[in-house]
Amino acid sequence: MWLFELFAQAVVFLAAISLVFVPLEYFWRADKPEPGRIPWLRRDWFNDLLFYLGQILIFNAFTLFVLGWVFHRIGESALAPTFLRELALPLKIFLVIVASDLLIYWGHRAQHRFAFLWRFHRVHHTAEHVDYLAAYREHPFDNIYTRGIETLPAILFGLDLNTIAGFVTFRGLWALFIHSNTNIRFGFLEVLLGSPHLHHWHHELDKRGLCNYANLSPLMDLAFGTYYSPPGRPQKYGTAEPVRQAWFWQLIDPLLPRRR
Ligand SMILES: [Zn+2]
Ligand SMILES: [Zn+2]
Repeated sequence: MWLFELFAQAVVFLAAISLVFVPLEYFWRADKPEPGRIPWLRRDWFNDLLFYLGQILIFNAFTLFVLGWVFHRIGESALAPTFLRELALPLKIFLVIVASDLLIYWGHRAQHRFAFLWRFHRVHHTAEHVDYLAAYREHPFDNIYTRGIETLPAILFGLDLNTIAGFVTFRGLWALFIHSNTNIRFGFLEVLLGSPHLHHWHHELDKRGLCNYANLSPLMDLAFGTYYSPPGRPQKYGTAEPVRQAWFWQLIDPLLPRRR
């Protein structure tokens, strides 16, 4: 019964985000739809749907279990200094956002630098069509790593679980937006606020993801010299490495020894 309820929730949530992003991608679409196709039903759509369902129905519970255990241990240890917990709430929230952005920036950069992390993060970069649904194309270990990094500051600062859930939800929705296939731009504000334009360049084939690591605010990219915002939009996405695109293999391949 609970599985049916979970499935129903997954369908309702997908309908809700599609209700927002399908019109956005229709009226502000960044690229031209492939001829003869329904605009939102692009190639690999079904594969990304499997990533979505896999994440919601199976792997989110796994992520919650692992992070719950790790954060419980951190909370009990001396790793969480008490003076951080005693700061005023507005200051705490500000510091948590800055610390999360800093950690995500370097955590994401490390994924593109170290082979062991890249083999899992590569799954996200195999998307040849980037839109809101492709945001879910993630290996479960990548998901644990990213959610863990972005939530760690909130745990160290002792924010309550509702506030933390709010942060995670907001960052999740923002991730859908920056992946959306739209040409919505923020003008000069794009040095403060991430946009689809910036993140799409992170997915561009030749850039190999070596720019625009930030999610929420590109300030870290500006500070560390990886901000990249050329005038046009990318023509090709994905990774030059050979990949088996099918969902099942994308989950398994990073766990297998490297093929020579
Ligand atoms: Zn992405
Ligand atoms: Zn990346």
